[in-house]
Amino acid sequence: METRELFWDVGPLAYTLFYVVAWCAIAVFLIGFARHFVKYSRGRRTPTPVHPLAGFRRMLADIFSQRTVSRRDRPTGHAHGLIFYGFLLLFIATSIITIEYDITEPVFGVTFWRGSFYLAFSLVTDLAGLGLLFGVAFMMWRRWRQRPAKLDYRRDYAGEAELRPEARAWMAEDAVFLVALALIVVTGFLQEGVRFVHERPPWAAWSPVGWLVAEVLDAVGMDEVRAAGVRRANWWIHGVMALVFIAAIPWNKAKHMIAVLGSLATRDLDALRRLPPAADDPEVEIGVAAINQFSWKDMLNLDACTKCGRCHEACPATATGAPLSPRDLILDLRVHAEHTLARPRGHGSALIGDVIAPETLWACLSCGACMEICPVGIEHPTMIVQMRRNLVEQGEMDQQLRDTLETIARSGNSFGESARARGAWTGALEFRVKDIREEPAEMLWFVGDYASYDPRNQTVSQTVARLFRAADLDFGILYDGERTAGNDVRRVGEEGLYLSLVEHNVAQMGAARRFERIVTTDPHSYNTIRNEYPEFAEVAPIGHYTSVLATLLSEGRLQVVKPLGRRVTLHDPCHLGRLNGNYDEPRRILESIGCELVEMPRNRDNSFCCGAGGGRIWMPDPPGKEKPAENRMHEAAALGQIDAFVVCCPKDMTMFEDARKTSGHEDDFIVQDLAELIAEAVDLKSIDLGEAPSSIERVADAVVAPSAEAQAPPAVVRAEPGPAVVAGPVTAARLPRYEVPPKDGPRILVAVKQVANLDEGFRIADDGLSIPAEYFEHELNEWDDAALEEALLVVERVGAGEVVAVTVGPEGAEDMLRKVLAKGAHRAVRVWDDALAHADPVTIARALAGVARREEPDLILAGVQSSDLAQGATGIAMARILGLPHAAVVRGVEWDGGAGLTVTRELEGGIHHRFELPAPALLTIQTGGNRPRYATMRMIKQARQKPIAVLDGSAVGLEQAGALVRRIYQPPRTGRARMLEGDAAEVAKAIAGIVREKRGD
Ligand code: SF4
Ligand code: SF4
Repeated sequence: METRELFWDVGPLAYTLFYVVAWCAIAVFLIGFARHFVKYSRGRRTPTPVHPLAGFRRMLADIFSQRTVSRRDRPTGHAHGLIFYGFLLLFIATSIITIEYDITEPVFGVTFWRGSFYLAFSLVTDLAGLGLLFGVAFMMWRRWRQRPAKLDYRRDYAGEAELRPEARAWMAEDAVFLVALALIVVTGFLQEGVRFVHERPPWAAWSPVGWLVAEVLDAVGMDEVRAAGVRRANWWIHGVMALVFIAAIPWNKAKHMIAVLGSLATRDLDALRRLPPAADDPEVEIGVAAINQFSWKDMLNLDACTKCGRCHEACPATATGAPLSPRDLILDLRVHAEHTLARPRGHGSALIGDVIAPETLWACLSCGACMEICPVGIEHPTMIVQMRRNLVEQGEMDQQLRDTLETIARSGNSFGESARARGAWTGALEFRVKDIREEPAEMLWFVGDYASYDPRNQTVSQTVARLFRAADLDFGILYDGERTAGNDVRRVGEEGLYLSLVEHNVAQMGAARRFERIVTTDPHSYNTIRNEYPEFAEVAPIGHYTSVLATLLSEGRLQVVKPLGRRVTLHDPCHLGRLNGNYDEPRRILESIGCELVEMPRNRDNSFCCGAGGGRIWMPDPPGKEKPAENRMHEAAALGQIDAFVVCCPKDMTMFEDARKTSGHEDDFIVQDLAELIAEAVDLKSIDLGEAPSSIERVADAVVAPSAEAQAPPAVVRAEPGPAVVAGPVTAARLPRYEVPPKDGPRILVAVKQVANLDEGFRIADDGLSIPAEYFEHELNEWDDAALEEALLVVERVGAGEVVAVTVGPEGAEDMLRKVLAKGAHRAVRVWDDALAHADPVTIARALAGVARREEPDLILAGVQSSDLAQGATGIAMARILGLPHAAVVRGVEWDGGAGLTVTRELEGGIHHRFELPAPALLTIQTGGNRPRYATMRMIKQARQKPIAVLDGSAVGLEQAGALVRRIYQPPRTGRARMLEGDAAEVAKAIAGIVREKRGD
């Protein structure tokens, strides 16, 4: 019967010894893995959900198809497949033998490793071994002859001329791994060969490689006796080598064979396009500053790295000499994790600084190229962002980046422009773009910063608007209601600011009139609104404008009348393509408008980042280094004779317009947005977009010929005479006692007051006396924010004291107080009674003054504005009630906490008024004197621990009202007024001319 003897000529002692060695190998293997599990158990929980079943299925598909290994490198993928399947089949074969020899035969007397099964087994294992050997031979040739740059561990970007000791160890490890695998297979075939020479079994041909080896041995004159001797010795060599290899798996790069099962099964398919939230627990440090602050999954991923270098090759930062290689980052983290976590007494070096340089973290473009190509599913950029979060929290960032974040916090855009100017680009259009806060539309266009403020991109926005108009698309924008979407703010690591931007934009969208979907020209906004905003609130489905325009063209709503016949190349934006899988629409458009698309070598998922992502557009470029956009320009120019480099991202437009000049390709091609090509192809200029008057004409119309609506009498309900004004002195409310801590320095009370959101549509109550409460918001308004900042600055300068925020408002106002506390206020007090819902400003002032009586502050600050129907009266009234000196429209305070303070006011016309006031005093603060800070994630978390005293306001009473409202009426809105550019004289001249012309003077 066809079979073979397993322990041929092995005596009892040798037999026992073999089993001792085998059990030792298994023990070393298990200890190695236990050590890794201990390491993983020291990590945090994964911040994003893991889907074990779906992940397991996907992992099996990845592993058995070898698809992640074959991408963009088929030969290596095939070689790896041979190694994988060879190893797997030999492992299964060994297991089958073990099952029969150690279980079924001794326990049940059942044998099956014989006859036809044995012959098939022999054939399969022989071919598996041969395949494995071919695979290993290819890898050896590639590593030692071909030597691709991605397998070179020398860090040129770090100025390393020589390999560091770890890198030498990695090279030795790679070599030992390949040689060991090869030797195990070769000694296995030798064992077969000598057995065939020794035994001459008639079925030897079923092991074709072993049979061939036997033929060779015969040919060189090996007889049966010598074959038996070699067989005896080689059995031990082969067996012990295989056992040592197994024992060593958890201790060297071979561990990826196991770790990859976990890394692929737990891979987050949304990684990077949806970043994990920062930890909510105030006790938990923001971001990652130590290796055990990564999740267990991150640490498992580190062990899965095979050092293949694909991420290193794909990374635009590495390619342009920035101090970052995603491969080296992962390997450094792995070494550090080993040293720190697998050893009881740790390693002692700081993660950020000693192990990973801050400049390495700041070099990342969040383009996702590394993650996308990594065959084992490592999520490099999310690990980078988590470390950035900690740097941001410590305030360790480039000054230019810090300024930009502050600018965004202050103005809502990275340009530092006024919010009112956000929609200014629409002024050049022949038609009015709907303000979706006032008029419903089918589609909300979220424009984004660059498309709104950057002059070159404004022309693209105008073209897109005209194309939408030409296709009769019903759309509107948020105008000054929009703020930067926050995608890159989040990738920089500034989670606190990101949350505030999301909150604002979501509130604006929620308060807008009806719309069904969102479109954006900005892939960064597209990414975060599509993938991240839904974690905070429900948002309408969003599409990129390329999808919308592709549909309009295919439906014939935009008709190509002049096919362009141009030769162009297309840049896939990272946030549109790699992160969100939109590759086809821009290509479909190019085809439909008659362009010949010549692809750059790095296209679609292998696209090369322009260098703007991850907040890099807000950081200075390293001097003397090629920029990623310049690198891309060379790639495009190498295509030869292209007419245009086509983009579909405003940041790409900015980066490539610049790089085309700095890289010397200014005369080779132009950079054009896809919309600009479409405009030419549909002959947009010839399409009548409506006869809307120019902005100048609209002003003139508003001045000279008010609309019928404007001429109509306002819808006013006259109030019945109310109660008479109380003539007696208005006093501070008597509020319940509460615990006020002793002073340890100056105490500054900051009054934060509700503000009417009157810009967003409101109505006057039926009695004509008030605006219903739902149109008021308890939001930190910009004037109170400036007052808070001034108070915080004073306390910081003095080095002692506290800032106490006080408001009159219902429970919902606590969200606003938490924001104030997050910015740095030490305590807060909230006064409320339902009767105060209709309180006038003086009543509010009485309530606030009641708190002041309890707190005995040394200074009271308030914004110049307050709800009180924009009368701005609360601050002044409080000063009168408390008998304090008062100054309004203050822009700055100099005070050391002593008896006197110096106050600067700015009066109309820019006149500064500087004067002394005794303390305590009450100041109402104007905006512009300081830059209010924004709350970082840590501050937001800390604010949850700060106290808010809640006082019953029922004793405030409304009977001491300081004013009687007779009526409120809303002046007519024409919706036609526009801002004229120029200085006062120019504007006056323009208006006078228009009015004269309209009158026919
Ligand atoms: S995300 Fe892009 S820039 Fe950052 S490490 Fe990966 S490939 Fe490099
Ligand atoms: S991180 Fe992934 S792509 Fe980079 S070297 Fe390791 S296994 Fe290869």
